[in-house]
Amino acid sequence: MEGLRRLPKVDALAGLLGEELPWVYRVEAARRTVERARSMLREGRPISGEALVAQAREEAALLARPGLRRVINASGVVLHTGLGRARWAKAAAEAAAEAGANHAALEIRLDSGGRGDRQEHVEQHLRALVGCEAAMVVNNCAAAMVLILAALARGREVLLSRGQMVEIGGSFRMPEVIEASGCVLREVGCTNKTRIADYERALHEGVAAILRCHPSNFAVIGYVEEADPRELRALADRRGVLLVDDMGSGCLADLSRLGLPRVETMRDVASWAHVAAASGDKLLGGPQAGLIFGSRACLEEIRRYPLARALRPDKGTLAALEATLRLYREGRELEIPTLKYLARGERELRRMASRLARRIGPAARTVPSTSEVGGGALPGVSLATWAVEVSTGDPQAAARSLRLGDPPVLARVQEGKVLLDPRTMEEDEVGIAAARVREVVAREGAHG
Ligand SMILES: *Cc1c(COP(=O)(O)O)cnc(C)c1O
Repeated sequence: MEGLRRLPKVDALAGLLGEELPWVYRVEAARRTVERARSMLREGRPISGEALVAQAREEAALLARPGLRRVINASGVVLHTGLGRARWAKAAAEAAAEAGANHAALEIRLDSGGRGDRQEHVEQHLRALVGCEAAMVVNNCAAAMVLILAALARGREVLLSRGQMVEIGGSFRMPEVIEASGCVLREVGCTNKTRIADYERALHEGVAAILRCHPSNFAVIGYVEEADPRELRALADRRGVLLVDDMGSGCLADLSRLGLPRVETMRDVASWAHVAAASGDKLLGGPQAGLIFGSRACLEEIRRYPLARALRPDKGTLAALEATLRLYREGRELEIPTLKYLARGERELRRMASRLARRIGPAARTVPSTSEVGGGALPGVSLATWAVEVSTGDPQAAARSLRLGDPPVLARVQEGKVLLDPRTMEEDEVGIAAARVREVVAREGAHG
């Protein structure tokens, strides 16, 4: 076939794709484009030389930029799982960058020159903030639960209320986690009601622990009852078993002071559990991490268990977490984006939305809307906000264009409109997002 012979050589096409892009991406893009053109030709669909170069150039530019890119979150979901849950405080990002770009005092005592413990940097702050005897950090809360159960209860039974047999984020299902840790699940009570007497009846020789699991991503309404955790602790002590608490959220602040419903804090949980687990990147607002906190005896046993070594965090995570915890200790927690965004009041949101709408121009207007906490925290809580509604042709196509530009902007499409919620944006992102929206609206206009 004549057309196939006229397709450019991969190297020749790569040579036409702009000196500024690394050769490796130009060659890769040229190869993919030539392959695509070849199969199109076979189907009798020829492609012009100009279109070929344009396609290859666009593909090379896409390959050359990082996949894990910064995104402007205009979705109004504060803990957006797809965007990496909590946005780090500036101090946390700087601490991680500093630890990464340099050698760091991870496991060395600078006074004596002797061996230190990587967990100490964070443990001292957790002890002070939470009131626990001891604490440690692992990869995430799921890892923390597996480690706790394997170290303290493997080969024995774990009691769990039927109201707490939850699945969190796809593959984290409490019954399966218990099984994977080498423990035997013993179900207690009913979906809506589990009383202290149900636990009492289920306790026998083979039980190692009572597990409490926070229903992070759903709410049951109606006739609902769970045993009081302080009563559970008293029962556990009387019968010589452990009370283990999977709290999830890692809430350290009194949310009622931010105008939200108060939820159990790490301090609350530490007051009743022998040992507990929390996420670093939910309501705590730090990096992905699993925090294990509780009695010294439990933590010592967990640290000695071989799996602990397999789940230990790196210096970047520990630096970011230490910096985040220091903000709490210094009373600067509103510098943590998660808390700052949750605390934003109607007046501030309305002002930000107005500024965003003004910068976008006549296609935009402000509308009352709701933001979400997200990330499997505070289920059932919705947050009143002011958003900016943008009139466009095809809203899905406009939202896609917003995601594909530079920087990507993640908006919401609701009732056929593109909606941008300033709750999850920094002040200096308002102008950037507005420029991206103007660009998309103008392009749509140009297309008719
Ligand atoms: C979110 C959550 C987990 C999982 O936490 P990761 O840090 O994502 O591993 C486990 N348990 C509860 C109760 C949760 O809310």
